[in-house]
Amino acid sequence: MSGTLTIEAKKVYRQPIGSIKVIKAQRHNLKNLNLAIPTGVMVGLTGVSGSGKSSLIEEIISQHEGKIVLIDQSPVGANKRGCLATYVGVFDKIRQLFAQKHRMHPSFFSYNSHGGCVLCKGVGFIEMDMNFLGDVKIKCENCGGTRYKNKFLRYQYRGKNIVEVLAMTAAEVGQFFDNPEISKATNLLQEVGLDYMEMGQTLDTLSGGESQRLKLSSRLQNQGEFYILDEPTSGLHFADVAKLLKLLNRLVDNGNTILVIEHNLDV
Ligand SMILES: [Zn+2]
Repeated sequence: MSGTLTIEAKKVYRQPIGSIKVIKAQRHNLKNLNLAIPTGVMVGLTGVSGSGKSSLIEEIISQHEGKIVLIDQSPVGANKRGCLATYVGVFDKIRQLFAQKHRMHPSFFSYNSHGGCVLCKGVGFIEMDMNFLGDVKIKCENCGGTRYKNKFLRYQYRGKNIVEVLAMTAAEVGQFFDNPEISKATNLLQEVGLDYMEMGQTLDTLSGGESQRLKLSSRLQNQGEFYILDEPTSGLHFADVAKLLKLLNRLVDNGNTILVIEHNLDV
């Protein structure tokens, strides 16, 4: 019981399939740096703060514009009305299923459209400026935080209304609908370890680690891409680091390249 947690290191290393070059990088404190970064493998770039890691990332991106995908822990999407179901592309399908069953227009099952509460406009809370306290969110008294007009909540699909469906986790939604289009998306969430999240959870409430994994979930099927992850483990719990590493390895096994900028040498 030493209390030490470990992640087993790879026994066999992958071989690069090519390289991308950085030529005469001079950005900020870089001094005419020439570099060939192997592709088809996971590459680690490490160094103390101020050693030029960020400058090098900027340089790689500018020398290979449009070919590099940067994945970080910043929030997914700037829209606070967006939820997990929207991001993974299943909300349309869910609304459609409700609409077909009740012979109504799908927009009545959207909180961003005709289905939305008129007082909070489908947000579920009212934001108030409390001067010294800053902005305070107060649950909308009209819809009770459901975001929907009450009259649409009597329409059910397999015994649940739209609010109850959005309150289910991704794993539950996948089973509940038993629909290939929906399962495909919820399976991807399961693979990145996010299937415990509620489908209606808004994207601005995700942690940095969750945002990062959600972004990766949409990339799992891709091949031949070059990803840069800047300090991907910062702020993550050990279990989340393990999940992340598994995902990154899978992306590389699919034929992608990953450049990880990391100060955490344990990773
Ligand atoms: Zn409301």
